Amino acid sequence: MLSKKIQAALAGSSAIRAMFIEGKELAAKVGAENVFDYSLGNPATPAPDSVKRVVADLLEQEDPLVLHGYMSNSGYEDVRSAIAGNLNRRFGTDFTWKNIVMTVGAAGGINIIFKTILDPGDEVIVFAPFFGEYRNYAANFDASVVAVAPDYNTFQPDLAAFEAAFTEKTKAVLINTPNNPTGVIYSEETMNGIAEILRRKEESYRTDIYLISDEPYRELVYDGAKENFLTKYYHNTIVGYSFSKSLSLPGERIGYIAVPDGASDAEDLLAGLEVANRTLGFVNAPSLIQKAVAGCINETTNLEFYDKNRKDLYEGLTKLGFTCIKPQGAFYLWLKSPAADEAEFVAAAKKYNLVLVKGSAFGCGGYVRLAYCIPNEKINRSLEAFAKLAEEYGLVKQDGGEHTGA
Ligand code: PLP
Repeated sequence: MLSKKIQAALAGSSAIRAMFIEGKELAAKVGAENVFDYSLGNPATPAPDSVKRVVADLLEQEDPLVLHGYMSNSGYEDVRSAIAGNLNRRFGTDFTWKNIVMTVGAAGGINIIFKTILDPGDEVIVFAPFFGEYRNYAANFDASVVAVAPDYNTFQPDLAAFEAAFTEKTKAVLINTPNNPTGVIYSEETMNGIAEILRRKEESYRTDIYLISDEPYRELVYDGAKENFLTKYYHNTIVGYSFSKSLSLPGERIGYIAVPDGASDAEDLLAGLEVANRTLGFVNAPSLIQKAVAGCINETTNLEFYDKNRKDLYEGLTKLGFTCIKPQGAFYLWLKSPAADEAEFVAAAKKYNLVLVKGSAFGCGGYVRLAYCIPNEKINRSLEAFAKLAEEYGLVKQDGGEHTGA
């Protein structure tokens, strides 16, 4: 007999993974080259060449007992120093290695943060639409997420709804910008508004409320947008980062957490994260790839690859008459379902070998998400399939004007 928790998790299993499996089944039937699989955020552009070179050098030159050995549960000190230095140079922070904890990706990072700060019954506010796994991560610690509806014109958080979502159980607010699934970057106005409300709520509830910034897409920004680092808005900000997307290393499971000295109980928090890394069974982030990312710390992914996909897909879809939010960052496009029930639209798309993910998987029905981290030729070929889908829904072709709202 399975535990009640895992039975519940099985029942509500990830819609993204489910579509990924459907995509694979479809590929077995019609051939992988004919399937336009927009389901999973798995980068189709490889890790920079330097990753290969650094790994080869490490294998050749590093003491294998160090390279493959256990280390502090928070990671190698030289790796944490390299990350602290990189953040300080780019964002004017003043981290040392002590502020950094190496994690098993962003997923491992969020789980150890939750383990460190959440008690059963606690609430974490998230902004819809949001990465659906947050719900499962909170449930791991018998806590829950409270979703705040967006402003449907811009997909920025609705600050009045945010303010109304706090209770005495609110322990943290979890934010993700550039955003999965919308591709929206939260504006300065939004960030200042969130910080202001958090400060007020800390005061009125006389407690610490952490802002957790989940930043796997920090560097994936377009049209001249600047990379942002959120600790400058609010003192109690904990940053979780991942190299899954920025270096195309999702299977390697590597990321980090940065805790500023100004956060409440910063030292205890860092000690707690270290213990949580151990007791959740991660023990430490994988050793070889820790050293590898430190050696490639100034590298980024092939931004032009995603930017071209973004432009081709957005322009192609809007010309066909679809309504999309113009992505500003990450590698996702958020499209308004022409059918009231987006599940029906996802099923219709599948007839043309288009694999999309329902917005309800992100706490926001009526939309679908496309992960455009796939080869560019697939994006362009998929537009023929989208044209048939548009015809099925009677959409009117546009002359390429920009749609930024819903
Ligand atoms: N957070 C967000 C918003 C994501 O989109 C993802 C992965 O797609 C993760 C966290 C998990 O990333 P990682 O592979 O680093 O665990």
